[in-house]
Amino acid sequence: MIKNELPNNPKPKEWLADDLSQQYIADYKPFNFVDGEGVRNSLYVSGCRFACPGCYNKIAQNFHYGHPYTKELEDQIIADLAQSYVQGLTLLGGEPFLNTQVCLALVKRVRQEFGHDKDIWSWTGYTWDELQQESADKKELLSLLDILVDGRFIQAKKDLTLQFRGSSNQRIIDVPASLATNKVVIWKDLVH
Ligand code: SF4
Repeated sequence: MIKNELPNNPKPKEWLADDLSQQYIADYKPFNFVDGEGVRNSLYVSGCRFACPGCYNKIAQNFHYGHPYTKELEDQIIADLAQSYVQGLTLLGGEPFLNTQVCLALVKRVRQEFGHDKDIWSWTGYTWDELQQESADKKELLSLLDILVDGRFIQAKKDLTLQFRGSSNQRIIDVPASLATNKVVIWKDLVH
């Protein structure tokens, strides 16, 4: 029998970035075409507690994996975003919402420097509904995003044909529209 076939399910506010984040970065991939729409700069933060079986980046579940986030890296990300052909920033992991110290500082700076000329996507293992019951830092990060890809990776629902998602429970959510209407609004450009 296979053990632990499902990811962990935290209670609201059970996992807090203040307790868990080491502010470590697993990777930074500028100018890629796979982490959302258009050309994007992707930051992979370290640490995730969901422990989804089949996780695409298991090594980055460790909060100590990689290297510390630095002001130099942040400056590089901003400089890379300034390229006219770059559409935006993507946050992945690990779990961005358990590394809000890093992610909030970065998205605030992106808004400060570029307004809404650059868009911001984030992946998360939390569902939209779970985030509504979460800590203030998570809600603030959510409020600054354009697109959220939500939910754990569920192996039984794995589908390699899906746009930007690994399993069919995950959704590509238009964050401003969802916050404005208080219900999940799916990204208008979703094809499959
Ligand atoms: S939420 Fe994402 S990073 Fe975390 S264990 Fe699941 S697939 Fe991996």
